[in-house]
Formats: sequence, C-alpha cells, structure tokens
Amino acid sequence: MSAGPRERVVRPGLLSRLAVERAARARAGLERRSREIGAREGIAIEVDGQVLRNFCSNDYLGLSQHSEVVAALQECAAWRGVGAGASHLVCGHYREHRELEEAIAEWQGYPRALLFSSGYLANLAVVQTLLREGDLCVQDKLNHASLIDAARLAGAELKRYPHALPDGALRQLRSQPAAAALLATDGVFSMDGDIAPLKILAVLARAENATFYVDDAHGAGVLGPDGCGSVAHSGLSVNEVPLQLITLGKALGGAGAVLVGQAALIEAIADSARPYIYTTALPPALAAAARSALAIARREPWRRFKLAGLVARFRRGAQQIGVGLMDSSTPIQPIVIGSNTAALAAARQLEKAGFFVGAIRPPTVPEGRARLRVTLNALHSEADVDALLDALAGVARRLAGE
Ligand SMILES: *Cc1c(COP(=O)(O)O)cnc(C)c1O
Repeated sequence: MSAGPRERVVRPGLLSRLAVERAARARAGLERRSREIGAREGIAIEVDGQVLRNFCSNDYLGLSQHSEVVAALQECAAWRGVGAGASHLVCGHYREHRELEEAIAEWQGYPRALLFSSGYLANLAVVQTLLREGDLCVQDKLNHASLIDAARLAGAELKRYPHALPDGALRQLRSQPAAAALLATDGVFSMDGDIAPLKILAVLARAENATFYVDDAHGAGVLGPDGCGSVAHSGLSVNEVPLQLITLGKALGGAGAVLVGQAALIEAIADSARPYIYTTALPPALAAAARSALAIARREPWRRFKLAGLVARFRRGAQQIGVGLMDSSTPIQPIVIGSNTAALAAARQLEKAGFFVGAIRPPTVPEGRARLRVTLNALHSEADVDALLDALAGVARRLAGE
C-alpha cells in the first residue's frame, strides 16, 4: 500500500532514537562506563586514581603480569615486531602461532588446534562453518553472548533451553529430529560460575546425533587434571566433545583463543570460516606469551590449588555472615542483589572500602538478577579474602536497611 499524498511518511532519525534509548537506560540504572586503570601490580589496581584490591579480573592464575610471560612477549616482539602484517592465510602465520597451537593441542589431548585473535571470533567461526539455514543450534539459555550471536549470524535456528537442564536440551533437539544440529554450551558459566552438566549433555548429543561443542573460556587453566578445564574435569575427552574453545585472555593472562578438535572439524573451519580468513592474525609476540603462560600454569599447579582453597574459604566465610552465594565451585562467585541500582550501590560501597568488584546488570544477566561478580585469583591472600568478606558483611547490613 502506498501512503496517500497527505500522510507523508517520516523516516526516524537514528541519532534522536539513540538519545531516547540512552536516556531510558540511564533511568533504569543501565548506563555503562569504563573505569580507567592506572598502575596495576598483582591484585592491587588503581581505578580512577584510587588503589583497590581487584576482585573482578578473569586473570585467575595471576599470569598476566608474570615476568616470564612479559619477557616472552618482549623477546618475540624485539625481532618479529608487533603486528602479524596479514591474516594467517596470506602471510601472517608465524612459527610462534604453530608452536602455540601444538602446545595447546598437546595439553588438551586433542589432535588439532586453530588459533583465533579472540574467543568471540572463534565462536562465530565454529557455528558458521558447521551450520547453515535450516539447521538447528541448541544452546543453554545462559551461554555467552558470542555463541548466541554466532547462531544468529549463521542463519541457523537457535533454540535455547533452561539453564543447565539436560531435559530441556533433549526436548529442543527432538523438536527437529531431521535437522542437522549443534549442541553448544559454556563449560563454566561466566556470570554464574557453575559448571555445565557436560557428562549428560555429551550422552544425549550422541544419542541425538548432534555435534557437541563446549566453550571453556572460564574453565581452561583452572579446573580438572593438569588444569585442562571443565571437559577433562567431567571425565570427558575428544571422543565425547569433538570441539572445544580455550581462550587465552582469562586464566592464561593474554589475548586470543584456540579451538581444539577433531582434525576434520578444525580443517573445515580453517578452510572456510570467515572470522578466521578475513582478519589479521594475532601478533606473534602474544602467541609466544601465551605459550609461556601455559608452561607456567602446567608446572605450577599450586596456582589452581591455591585458588580452590580461596574459593572454599570465601564460601565458608560468606555462609558465616549470611551472604547468599550461587551454586559455584569455581573462582566466579556472584552475589545476586536483584535491582540494578542496588547492585551499583553495593559496588560503590565496596569501592569505598577498598575493593574493586563489578556490578553486572542486564542484558548480561537476566532482568531482576543484577549481581556483584566476585572473582578470586591465585595472587589473593587469605587475608584479602577475609577483608572482602568483612566489607560484604557491611553491604549486607546496608541492604537489610540497618
Ligand atoms: C570471554 C568469553 C568469550 C570471548 O572470548 P574473548 O577472547 O574475550 O573474545 C567467549 N566465551 C565465553 C564463555 C567467555 O567468557
């Protein structure tokens, strides 16, 4: 239907729409602002000029400033320079990249590995290589945003199931028995800290002839034998989980990500995934740094054992002061507050007491489930954890209106 001469259609202006949306976000306590980091040394972090104890980094093993890792980066950059200069398939694939892929594959006990410049891109690559229109992508409702975006971009049908409920996953798979299917889950959920029920999911993926993919951004380096992550922690291997994602920006303290998987899967992704082909390779010095960080993580298991001890201490202490935690055994220990403004106020109160803890709000977490996301680090001392607990007791008192 065409509009009559009198009802002229007015095209909405993008800038005015953005202004309206931004004002609405501010009213809902949803504005976002990066905090500028100054000096940082171990868990001490200078935020907008104030030195705080850092309880919000994903650098779980404390490797991001390790002198050996920094030296590996500097030595490589001294002769390689900084940028890779091109994508892997043009002339950006260096020896350091191959050595890192081989080291990660060997560590994980997987036949092949493929390096990406970020975990976000790796997830886009996996889903767009494996799935196309008409295929089915079954995902946990709390999966990382990059997995959700990946399914949308691939044009596959995205079906989500209630968090950590294998029955829900099975129902979604059975809803389309004739469609080729990928079952994808985070190994450790980034905002809740719990571990996915990988064993059961693996069984039903096999029964339903779906390919099982685990994004272990937060498990790798932290969980399982040799710190291999949530898949090994669950007693699984490449036989049950043919493809998984290890990111380098969290426990390994650097940047980038590596897919490990069966040869046929990795080869298909390297051949055809646009997020692999059409982007500049990770700087080789960062690959050298990641290999150094991996070597330290493996020869110093005390880092993850100490972390596990701090997690246990934090959970015991929180229970003693009546602060409710989620069902998490990992270094991610969120405290659900509820409203956005209350979560922001709680984070501000902690900051005044000398602690840096992130307030996580929708859409990163569901509506009404805003939270403080406490993360523990191998460089924290027991005294750091106890001091945070004292401050959290103050937050709880204020929330209770005392
Ligand atoms: C951080 C994260 C990613 C993205 O990895 P980057 O390397 O930071 O892009 C993907 N998945 C999960 C579960 C994550 O937590």
